[in-house]
Amino acid sequence: MQLIIFGSPGVGKGTLSDMLAEKYKIPHISTGDIFRNEIKSGNSELIQYVEKGLLVPDMVVNKVVEKALKQENCRNGFIFDGYPRTIDQAEFLENTLWKLRKSIDLVLNLVAPEETIIKRLGARRNCSKCGAVFNLATIKPKKNGICDNCGSALAQRKDDEPETVRKRILVYRRETSALIGYYKNKKILVDINSSKKPKEVFDAVVKVIKANVKKE
Ligand code: ADP
Repeated sequence: MQLIIFGSPGVGKGTLSDMLAEKYKIPHISTGDIFRNEIKSGNSELIQYVEKGLLVPDMVVNKVVEKALKQENCRNGFIFDGYPRTIDQAEFLENTLWKLRKSIDLVLNLVAPEETIIKRLGARRNCSKCGAVFNLATIKPKKNGICDNCGSALAQRKDDEPETVRKRILVYRRETSALIGYYKNKKILVDINSSKKPKEVFDAVVKVIKANVKKE
C-alpha cells in the first residue's frame, strides 16, 4: 500500500505516519527527518533551507526520494510524510512509481485550524538523540526536558521558533497547498479532521483505508 500523508506543518503528519507504519508494517519516509539527519551528519548545505523554513530544491528532494523508493523495505509499500510538497515533486513521484509499476493508493489530507497548528508547533519538543517527539500540552515527557525513550535532553526544533513557523505556514499556502487540487483531480485525496487526539485521528484513517484500498 502506497500512502501520502499530506497537510500543513504541525498538523500531525509525523505522529500519524508512525502509528500507520507500525500497523501496516511499511516504512515511514519523512523527508524532513532525512534532511535533519543529513544536517546532523555534517551536510551544512541544507541548513539554509531547513532551519529557515524554506523548501529544499526539488532536484535535491527528488534524488533522496528516488533512493529511498529503491530500498528493499519499500517493496510492500510506504508512507510518505512531507513529500511531495510541490507539483514538480508530485510529477516526479508519479513517473518514478510508474517505472516501478506502482502508484499512490491514497492521499490523506490532514486538516486542523491554524490556531491549533500554531499552538502544537510551539509546544513540540524533540529528543536530540533518538528523535522521539513530545508535546508540552498533550504528549508530555514523564520527566521535564528528558526523553522517555532514551533519557537524552529534549529541545525545540530550530524551525519551530515562532517566526519560522509563520514562514513555514506561508510556504505551505503558497507552494504546497496546490497539491490538494492536483490529487483531488486524480480522485485519491480524502480530507481527515486532525484536530482530534492522535488515536482518534488514527482510527478514522484506518477506516478510510479499509474503505478505499483493496490491498491494504
Ligand atoms: P513540517 O511538515 O512540520 O514543516 P518537516 O519535518 O516535514 O516539517 O520538514 C522540515 C523542513 O524540511 C521543511 O521546512 C523543508 O525545509 C524541508 N523539507 C522536507 N520535505 C521537503 C520537501 N518535500 N520539499 C522541500 N523541502 C522539504
